[in-house]
Amino acid sequence: DAERQFTSDASHELRTPVTVILAECEMAEKMPEDTEAVQESVTEIHKQARKMSELIGKLLAYTRLEQGTRRIDREELDLSGLVEDVCEEQRTVAARNIRIECETSHDVLVNGDVALLISLVQNLVTNAVKYGKDGGHVWVKVYSEGSKACVSVRDDGIGIREEDLACIWNRFYQADRSRSDECRGIGLGLSLAQQIARLHGGRITASSRPGEGSEFIFSMPET
Ligand code: ADP
Repeated sequence: DAERQFTSDASHELRTPVTVILAECEMAEKMPEDTEAVQESVTEIHKQARKMSELIGKLLAYTRLEQGTRRIDREELDLSGLVEDVCEEQRTVAARNIRIECETSHDVLVNGDVALLISLVQNLVTNAVKYGKDGGHVWVKVYSEGSKACVSVRDDGIGIREEDLACIWNRFYQADRSRSDECRGIGLGLSLAQQIARLHGGRITASSRPGEGSEFIFSMPET
């Protein structure tokens, strides 16, 4: 049943961008002289194709992890350095005047797969920006707690309603479907992140106050 549901959700998510791309192509073909309108079509096609590409990439990553066909290359690494690098990179792409602050105090060593952990942290930080408010803040912190290495990603954005909090980890779940197409993601980021956390013997928890912001905490064994 889960497999059938997954295929159905994935097909549904891919159908919309494909429909738009086909319609735009047909329109563009009918107006070869009108360069401005053609340009608009190309821009729309490009946007939808990017979305499909992102979806397919995440679907593949998700399936490979789930089926165990993605090899996990574990090595000892410093989570503080990894998180600082991700924040630095995200600062260059973060839009809408959102400030990303990163607090790390010492090396926090873990045994993990660099690429997967980068993708986990990237997902949390990009969400904090995506669902953040204009001119808002994202606070990222790496710390040790008991025998655990923790990364907290907090924002002062739109927040998540109590009834949505348990569902955001589900594949394709999006709390606010009414958001414009521009800001919408595809609802795979958190399920992927949670799966990566579990593969590392860890987990991610979320807490939020609607209208005030959210905090996601990833924790895994520290070495
Ligand atoms: P996507 O962002 O692609 O929609 P995710 O799986 O990353 O998918 O997130 C699922 C849903 O959880 C989002 O659609 C959004 O409603 C909610 N969400 C995730 N992170 C945040 C956040 N920092 N603030 C508010 N809502 C969030």
